[in-house]
Amino acid sequence: MTSSGSAPSIFSRIVAREIPATIVAETELIIAFEDIAPQAPVHIVVTTKTEVYRNVVELAAGDPALLAELVRVANVIAEERTGGEFRLVFNTGPSAGQTVFHVHAHVLGGQLKEGTLG
Ligand code: 5GP
Repeated sequence: MTSSGSAPSIFSRIVAREIPATIVAETELIIAFEDIAPQAPVHIVVTTKTEVYRNVVELAAGDPALLAELVRVANVIAEERTGGEFRLVFNTGPSAGQTVFHVHAHVLGGQLKEGTLG
């Protein structure tokens, strides 16, 4: 359970190693792993270990330093995997495609699958 009493998000369960994922980077505060349903040749999810913040707007307001750390880690991964040309996407809200309400960014490199990003 989280502090709010809800069940841990799927990403918190990855952080806790309760479910498997291909982890590509980890720091004290951030974890990054391969998306289970990649929408591009490079598709990495970068998320905070805490699930206090549901989306990037909440994170920016509540802990801007943590947002900066998330973007820093995303950029390291993107440099390694895409050579520095990539999309960094924060879906925000269900109608924008957000399905996991634990703030995260998508690092997307290469040609997107048809239909991705609307
Ligand atoms: P959202 O739709 O919220 O922006 O992004 C959630 C992402 O998490 C989706 O791209 C989805 O494929 C990915 N995802 C959902 N469940 C899992 C999982 O169990 N493992 C991994 N590696 N990715 C997941």
